[in-house]
Amino acid sequence: MGEGMRKVGLLGGMSWESTALYYRLLNEGVRERLGGFHSARLVLTSVDFADIEAMQVAGDWEAAGAALADEARSLEAAGAECLVLCTNTMHKVADAIEGAVGIPLLHLADVTADAVRSAGVDRVALLGTRFTMEQPFYADRLRSHGLDVLVPEGDDLTFVHDVIYDELVLGVVRDESRAAYVDVVRRLVARGAGGVVLGCTEIELLIGPDDVEVPVFATTALHARAAVEFALS
Ligand code: GLU
Repeated sequence: MGEGMRKVGLLGGMSWESTALYYRLLNEGVRERLGGFHSARLVLTSVDFADIEAMQVAGDWEAAGAALADEARSLEAAGAECLVLCTNTMHKVADAIEGAVGIPLLHLADVTADAVRSAGVDRVALLGTRFTMEQPFYADRLRSHGLDVLVPEGDDLTFVHDVIYDELVLGVVRDESRAAYVDVVRRLVARGAGGVVLGCTEIELLIGPDDVEVPVFATTALHARAAVEFALS
């Protein structure tokens, strides 16, 4: 059953709004490649986001890393052959997760950087949670691929973060927030960004390529595509 297809492990629930999108995109990707009734072989573990969010706010990344390492072990034990951590932010604890298992983690910043470079973009804007935009773990990983990374400043940064936690992870998608995100992107383009990384897995529920004039790098779609490549390679 499903011979030749490797089993993907999704570490999700952060939030489930985007994990649901991963599930759909992975299955659609496999169907596109193999046709017929084919669908993705995968195992999913899904955390209670309230627990993780509390650890983020408390700055207890060690506890978060330990919790996600446990989830990763359970995926490996269930036969997963790779790990897809379905959130940009929690790549902050990628090392703790990778250290807990023998299977590879498809690091989202690497997948994203490859796509940005393939599009010929050198200077890219990064939207995400405050953690992702302000701390080095994600932007520096993009930079290690030779990219120049810009993040919003001041109120724009706070606004981008707040929309994620007050709306998107709760399944709320507002036209006003879309328009304001588009304005934030315009200001980043004016500062020299040649593309924008939607570096939070829910942002692509709000804006997409039709909303802005520069190339958009949607991390959930890119990550799901990388997982399909892994599964079928
Ligand atoms: N899904 C989001 C991300 O990609 C934010 C939720 C979280 O904090 O994990 O960063």
